[in-house]
Amino acid sequence: MTETGAPARCPADRLTGLLVCPSCRLPLDGPADGRLTCAACGCGGQRRGDRLHFGGFEETELRDDPLNRIKETVKRRFGRAYPMAIQMVSPVLLRRFVRPFLAGFDLDRQLVADLGSGTNRYDRRILCVDGGVYDNVDLVGDLRTLPLADASLDGIVSVAVLEHVPDPQAHVEEMWRVLKPGGRLLCFVPFMQPFHASPYDYQRYTAPGLAELFGRFEVVGTRVGAGPTSSLVWVLQEWLALVLSFGSTRLYRALVPLMWALSPLKLADHLLARHPAAPVLASGFVIEARRPAG
Ligand SMILES: [Zn+2]
Repeated sequence: MTETGAPARCPADRLTGLLVCPSCRLPLDGPADGRLTCAACGCGGQRRGDRLHFGGFEETELRDDPLNRIKETVKRRFGRAYPMAIQMVSPVLLRRFVRPFLAGFDLDRQLVADLGSGTNRYDRRILCVDGGVYDNVDLVGDLRTLPLADASLDGIVSVAVLEHVPDPQAHVEEMWRVLKPGGRLLCFVPFMQPFHASPYDYQRYTAPGLAELFGRFEVVGTRVGAGPTSSLVWVLQEWLALVLSFGSTRLYRALVPLMWALSPLKLADHLLARHPAAPVLASGFVIEARRPAG
C-alpha cells in the first residue's frame, strides 16, 4: 500500500515519504519522475521508470574478476532465470529459510527489502536493492548508505552478501538504522565455501561469529543454512579442477563448469544438514534477528 491507501504499482512507489539523502539523511522529495537531489548537500539520485538509482557498482568493478565477468554476463542475459540455474548447477543446497521467514510478514502492508538481491526476486512486493543494475532491482545503491529514512523497513533479507563486503559491520549498522524497532531480519553467510568473487570476497563466519556480528540485535536463532555435503562437493570440484589443470589457469577455468556434474551429490544434505554436528562443517549459516522494540 502507498500512504494514500491505494495499492502500490511497484516497490519504488512504496518509498514515498521514506527517501532520504544517502549522505546527510535529509528527506528527499517524493519519488516523482526525474532527479531526486538533496537541497542541503546536492547528493541524491534519480528515478528512471520503476527504478531508483543512487550510485551502485561501476561496470569495471563487476568485470575485474574473470569468473565474475562470466557470471555478470549470464546474469544480465538470463535475469530472473539466473538464480534458478544457479540452484540447479551449484554444489550448495540451500535449505528453505527465506520463504518461511517471509511468511511471517503481511507483504501488502509491511515493507521488506532484499539487500543484495542480485537478479533474484522472492515476491513482487519486496523491495529489491542491489549495487548492480539488474532488471528486477528497484533501488540501485550502496548498501551502507541506503537512501531510506530511519526505521522505514519491517523486514530485511540478506542472502550471501556479507562475505562480499570489506566492512560487514557497517552493513549491519545500516540494517539496524533502517529497520523499525521490532523489525526482523534474516541473513545467510557462508562458512565452508571456496573463494568466489561477486565482485569481491572477503570473509566466512561460524555460527557464533555470525551471532557476534549481529550482537546489537536480539538473536532469534542461528542454524545451518547449507549442510556439510555442500562444503565437501564444492571443495572437491575446485580441487579436481586444480589437480587436472596441471598448472594452467585456462584449463582450470574450463574444467570448473565440467565439475558441476558432481553437484547432485549435494542432495545428501537433505539428511546431513540436520545432523546435530553439522555446524562443524556447514557450508553456511543463517541467522534470524530482531531489532528490540523498546
Ligand atoms: Zn544531503
